[in-house]
Amino acid sequence: MPVILNPQLKQALAERLRYYNQLGIYDFYRRETGASVEDVPIEEASQPEPQEEMTPRSASAKPLPPQEDLLSTANSKPEAGVTEPVKALKIIREDLGDCTRCVLHKQGRQQIVFGVGNPSAELMFIGEAPGADEDMQGEPFVGRAGQLLNNMIKAMGIGREDVYIANIIKCRPPNNRTPERDECETCSPFLMRQIAAIKPKVIVALGSVAAKTLLAINAPMSEFRGRWYDFRGTRLAVTYHPAFLLRDPRQKKEAWKDLQMVMKELGWKVPQAT
Ligand code: URA
Repeated sequence: MPVILNPQLKQALAERLRYYNQLGIYDFYRRETGASVEDVPIEEASQPEPQEEMTPRSASAKPLPPQEDLLSTANSKPEAGVTEPVKALKIIREDLGDCTRCVLHKQGRQQIVFGVGNPSAELMFIGEAPGADEDMQGEPFVGRAGQLLNNMIKAMGIGREDVYIANIIKCRPPNNRTPERDECETCSPFLMRQIAAIKPKVIVALGSVAAKTLLAINAPMSEFRGRWYDFRGTRLAVTYHPAFLLRDPRQKKEAWKDLQMVMKELGWKVPQAT
């Protein structure tokens, strides 16, 4: 239904959008009613739900003048129009800067862990948050869990350099605690932009924090696994976090099933069990 925004509301909304852009948030979604769980994208809960003034349609109503396109003016990401993923990622990294957008910058973080790998990767892995090793080296998944992730990738017949690896949040939480919701909401817009730049064919969410944040669904791992999700037009699967597999190696068989599902989707040859 066409809507008209009154000028004050329109200006307030434009200012709010500019403010969120300064925070690095560019994607805004109108919450649809009746969306299936598979379609629910990350909720950027701190973003304004555009408030719209609903004007009843009357027989005498004139055609509406074109609305100033608020979203396209206040919402142009610095990497918009940059088709080269390396360049787009560089712009996103620069926009992130020496980030102080959430409390983690003053809670012992050594450095921001942006992401690593092939900027044109078909496959992207997304974990939870950097740990101590990652914080020290500035690269995701370089500790023990990272070694296991490397082995999982190798089992798929490719190398770590072939995929792109990132986390929901880019700074280490103190004592490796689970990221807070507001930290995920503040940081994940940058991840969304990385995904948009890389355009992977498949995303694998590692563990429940990544799955819950990306899909905005609160479910146990048993329900997340073994199926495909549509994440903003990209196929997304969920598997166990490598740190969990280190604690419970019996589940590696299950994780391998998930990775086989991913390989089939990508049209890769699935190695036969020996
Ligand atoms: N665990 C994660 O989720 N990410 C890392 O980068 C390392 C460990």
